[in-house]
Amino acid sequence: MGHLLFLPFSPNTEIILLTTLPITQLVLQGSAEFDELNSSYLSVLDNDITPECIFRPKTMEGVSTFLQTTGSFAGSEGVRLEIRGGGQQPLPVCANIENNITLDLRLLTGVEVKDDIVSIAAGERWENAYDAGRYRP
Ligand SMILES: Cc1cc2nc3c(=O)[nH]c(=O)nc-3n(C[C@H](O)[C@H](O)[C@H](O)COP(=O)(O)OP(=O)(O)OC[C@H]3O[C@@H](n4cnc5c(N)ncnc54)[C@H](O)[C@@H]3O)c2cc1C
Repeated sequence: MGHLLFLPFSPNTEIILLTTLPITQLVLQGSAEFDELNSSYLSVLDNDITPECIFRPKTMEGVSTFLQTTGSFAGSEGVRLEIRGGGQQPLPVCANIENNITLDLRLLTGVEVKDDIVSIAAGERWENAYDAGRYRP
């Protein structure tokens, strides 16, 4: 939980993010998609928080690229990063962050059962994990 990185959020930062990360996975404030994503928390307290952008990686490599890209600014005062899973935690400023970057993990899905170990992707829902455990081959 909590803030992971401190970045200088400047026009340059935004340009680097835009050119380095898959643009279809970076949702900027002001778009209809942004409004939809940012109003889908369980709590209205989190819906009322407005990040600068939302990054939605589709793969673990996408998470890695994102952290490497933003990590190049680590150590400076400025932007913070907040992680969103299901967005069910009702406490404000827990899975969303004002004027900074929200890392939305909900596209990382998949449940794998192997040798009695269930591996659950970060954006998966308990319903699917439960089904996979109960009906494993
Ligand atoms: C009505 C209600 C009932 C609940 N009942 C229960 C219950 O019975 N048992 C129980 O245990 N909990 C319960 N909870 C608490 C809920 O399960 C937790 O809030 C949980 O964190 C929600 O998961 P989420 O994926 O929606 O998290 P989010 O709301 O998306 O995030 C919660 C926190 O976890 C961080 N986070 C999310 N994903 C990751 C990740 N992959 N890596 C690192 N950090 C991450 C976020 O940054 C944030 O700080 C309940 C909550 C509510 C509102």
